[in-house]
Amino acid sequence: MTASGISPAAVESFTARERQRFLQQNPQSVALAERARHSLFGGVPMHWMADWSTPCPLFVERARGARFYDVDGHEYIDFCLGDTGTMFGHSPAPVAQAIAEQAGNGLTTMLPGEDAVVCGELLAARFGLPYWQVTATATDSNRYVLRWARAITQRSTLLVFDGCYHGTVDDVMVRCRDGQTVPRSGLVGQAYDLTQYSRSIPFNDVAALEAALAQGDVCALLCEPAMTNIGMVLPEPGFLQQCRELTQKYGALLIIDETHTISTDIGGCTQLWDLDPDFFVVGKPIAGGVPCGIFGCSAAMAEAMQQARQRASEGSHGHGHSGMGTTLSANALAMHAMRANLEQVMTPAAYAHMLPLAKRLADGFRRLIGKHGLHWSVTELGARSEFQFCAQPPKTGAEAEAAFHDELQMALHLYLINRGILITPFHNMTLCCPDTSAADVDRLIATLDEALTELLAIPG
Ligand code: PMP
Repeated sequence: MTASGISPAAVESFTARERQRFLQQNPQSVALAERARHSLFGGVPMHWMADWSTPCPLFVERARGARFYDVDGHEYIDFCLGDTGTMFGHSPAPVAQAIAEQAGNGLTTMLPGEDAVVCGELLAARFGLPYWQVTATATDSNRYVLRWARAITQRSTLLVFDGCYHGTVDDVMVRCRDGQTVPRSGLVGQAYDLTQYSRSIPFNDVAALEAALAQGDVCALLCEPAMTNIGMVLPEPGFLQQCRELTQKYGALLIIDETHTISTDIGGCTQLWDLDPDFFVVGKPIAGGVPCGIFGCSAAMAEAMQQARQRASEGSHGHGHSGMGTTLSANALAMHAMRANLEQVMTPAAYAHMLPLAKRLADGFRRLIGKHGLHWSVTELGARSEFQFCAQPPKTGAEAEAAFHDELQMALHLYLINRGILITPFHNMTLCCPDTSAADVDRLIATLDEALTELLAIPG
């Protein structure tokens, strides 16, 4: 038996059986995977698409609402939802219509339209920050906010929490080991030492936070209100308030990245918990699944940004490169989709549907853990819930990581996929969307129950 309560030998034979089942059930996916190997590096359009629990990629034919269909004709209930990109369901009707409307009216011009003004007004009203910028992805938003933070404070060091993820921003790719900042393992082609200008400390550790800020060189703390990328880790009471007070005390900015936690409330945790950041970031679902990111800032930051731009452009010819923005940022298609999403899809009614379902799911996970006598726990936040292979919910990224059991996790995910249910890969997170039903939730719980019953019956 391992700490997860399940024998490795049982997981191995269970996995072998499920892999066989997948290959038998999915001849079209298997054939496409074979074909793809000749033209796509690693047989997939982005290499991490080969890292799921399935023995070859599962090829999708179409998706709508809380469901998608694979090329072999199987239907799936989707609790992954593009890892939040389609948190409001696949192709919500108003977004699909907006895309169709814009499709014939120009997709990108490098100029704003009325949609941009409407979106700015909607974002300001919803998230409480007065000024906005629109990017192509959450990664881009974080990268640009970091540039602004360094320019405004004229300090270099970025502070992040150990186990964080904020997109493929170089500066966040650090971990904390024995109190030291070290480069994150697995990075490809990293030429310079990331620990020079980035510092990593444990989440929920006020003493480490103050010590890191007291060095006086931190431009900003970039954080999620709850960690969601190393398993979920909730903030302890008062921790986020300390983040605000201590950053202010030591002259650093507070950047809140709500790309995942936007599932908690229509205004994110920022509104729900009154977080008062200097900068606020969201990506993924903000335009209903069309690539788009945003960041907002306070009036004080907007003023400081103007001054920073003036400083930077001294001696240049008036249109120097700021190091921000990609050509397709804020393109007409994304703006029209975001407007439809904000106005018609990302509504209080959507959240009122999603939140109780996530609670039902979390309660179901807890029941299963009790029924099977497992020393696991459940972490719940808004429309998200997750079971973790540790008896107590983790308080830091390191604790959450220590609870990882990749083979077991992959075995359970594959069992669910083989029976028409998808949850977020690489950990055990689930997300409910406005099209998820109570019956969908109950089916996930019943199927996981069967998986655990079968797994625990295998002699270890
Ligand atoms: N911030 C957070 C909190 C995220 O979870 C992610 C992606 N998982 C990102 C930023 C980056 O999003 P994208 O990959 O769409 O740029």
